[in-house]
Amino acid sequence: MKVVNYLSQMDKDKCIGCRLCETICPTGAISMFEKKAVVDENLCRACSKCEDVCPNEAVILVERTEPLMVSADVDTVDEAAIDELCAKADLFPEQMICACTMTPVKEAAAAILNGARTPEDISVMTGIRTGCGIYCMGAIQRLLNANGIELKPPANNRWYKQCLSMWDIPDDVAKSNPGYFIEEDQGIYRNKIKGGERDVE
Ligand code: SF4
Ligand code: SF4
Repeated sequence: MKVVNYLSQMDKDKCIGCRLCETICPTGAISMFEKKAVVDENLCRACSKCEDVCPNEAVILVERTEPLMVSADVDTVDEAAIDELCAKADLFPEQMICACTMTPVKEAAAAILNGARTPEDISVMTGIRTGCGIYCMGAIQRLLNANGIELKPPANNRWYKQCLSMWDIPDDVAKSNPGYFIEEDQGIYRNKIKGGERDVE
């Protein structure tokens, strides 16, 4: 969950139409109109990336009149379906997917089961990926893939690539490097998930 207190606004006179903000926005909130950046305030999650990247100080974050509470309600989704999706992605439902917003994996899973198809959708629905935007991205991609969604990074490449984890190591590499105990570690995780554990110890 994220409480969004601010909102990005563009100064039309200062905007030079470079589109850097549009490229970096994690929620797809920015588009161009008559060569000037405009923000959809319903989608802005106040990450301030557009403000940081703007070369002409055209962006300011202003306080919202009412804070916006952003979260995917896990109670709207069958818990067994959340557990099944998390298990397919080799993630525990209660483990943290985003340390910036303290959001558990089950919330991202609920967003997907409620219709999120892209990392941007998940960011809009949960607020995750609007802090550092880095460490949650691998788990987001694994959850979407586990739900059968083929991901295609946007042409302007504003996604962090999926970080390698033990799940990405090919079986033959794991087998031929027994000293790293990769297969054993994978087995421990999978057995815990199969055993119905919802959290990392
Ligand atoms: S980064 Fe700044 S100058 Fe460039 S399009 Fe966005 S608001 Fe305009
Ligand atoms: S979500 Fe972040 S990058 Fe996108 S408009 Fe809001 S503050 Fe700017």
